[in-house]
Amino acid sequence: MNKTQLQVYYMDLHIHLGRTLKNAPVKITASNRMNVDSVIEEAIFHKGMDVIGLIDCLSPLVLNELEDYIQQGRAIELQEGGLLVDGKLTIILGAEIEVYDQNCKGPIHVLCYFPSLKSMRSFSNWCRMYIKNITLSTQRIYISAKILQQRVKDGGGWFIPAHVFTPFKSVYGKGVDTYMEEVFEIKQIDAVELGLSSDTHMARTLPELDPFPFLTNSDAHSVKMIAREHQVILCKEPSFIELGKVLQTKNERKILKNVGLSPKLVKYYQTVCDFCIGSENKCDDHERNSVVKGVSDRVQELSSKQNGKNMINIHRPTYLHQAPLEMIPSVGPKTIQDLISRFGSEMKVLHEVPSSKLKEVVSNSAVEKIDLMRKGKLHIRPGGGGVKGKIL
Ligand SMILES: [Zn+2]
Ligand SMILES: [Zn+2]
Repeated sequence: MNKTQLQVYYMDLHIHLGRTLKNAPVKITASNRMNVDSVIEEAIFHKGMDVIGLIDCLSPLVLNELEDYIQQGRAIELQEGGLLVDGKLTIILGAEIEVYDQNCKGPIHVLCYFPSLKSMRSFSNWCRMYIKNITLSTQRIYISAKILQQRVKDGGGWFIPAHVFTPFKSVYGKGVDTYMEEVFEIKQIDAVELGLSSDTHMARTLPELDPFPFLTNSDAHSVKMIAREHQVILCKEPSFIELGKVLQTKNERKILKNVGLSPKLVKYYQTVCDFCIGSENKCDDHERNSVVKGVSDRVQELSSKQNGKNMINIHRPTYLHQAPLEMIPSVGPKTIQDLISRFGSEMKVLHEVPSSKLKEVVSNSAVEKIDLMRKGKLHIRPGGGGVKGKIL
């Protein structure tokens, strides 16, 4: 590989582990079958990812397993940060943490990433003083958000608020009244993660977000969900330092595309009351019954509180609404297997292979759906209040 050329890479920075290889719990709500081995295998051979963020590296057990990879000769630490596995996949070490300090109105999830095993382990040791169970994922830290941010910066890391609009555990969902600056030091934020229920079109109406790149990650709790949201990026190699330049759009490095589910497909898009859950129509008494404020309503509310402009001039990468192959009707497991064994990976099928070629492997109706999806034109029944939307 010629490292002096800018190249296209596929990246998903928010992937959990359910268990360690020895079957100790890591993320309780993630699949038992999700461990370092199965995540790496899925990311390389099925999805065709170049960069993944393992977001449970606060656990010393996970760090030990990654060190074993190095011992066994399967991984090396890149000079510019990140772990290269099997010569194919860069792992960025990260931690998802729950913040809830005196300035927060509710719990907030944040993502902290570090360049090396050494810096990650040192961060884990520091967090151990303020987190009750360091071996489990996404635990609450009993320290202020700003002190945490400073520690991340001191360790050369990135600080990124997670899924910023989701109703229960996010900065805009519950954590603040109007502005992130109510809890965070704005200058020490490197990017924001949009989360499944929002997209660039919605998020760009908030002036406070103007300085930050948007990330679209899967927050995968099972291996199949890896890369259901991801980004297509341009840089010279997938290392921590190069990816930092991507976040800053420096020297031609950049995010080319954010790829994500249509917010309509996700559980918390619409405001839905108890009565409406599961039904297709909103009830008349929605206002009174309403239990979960949908992300779309919350974004509009924040935008008007922040005096959001209608004219937005900041250039943003294209946001492409896509879904993983397995969510598309008429594309069954066998079809997916056929596509991947023929064309190499899901990323290739989604982004690169011309539809004329796809037709050699799968039915016309399946190709039609994939085509519509590539154009962001699938028909979708919106979800809300905890019920997922559906591709029709
Ligand atoms: Zn979270
Ligand atoms: Zn998560």
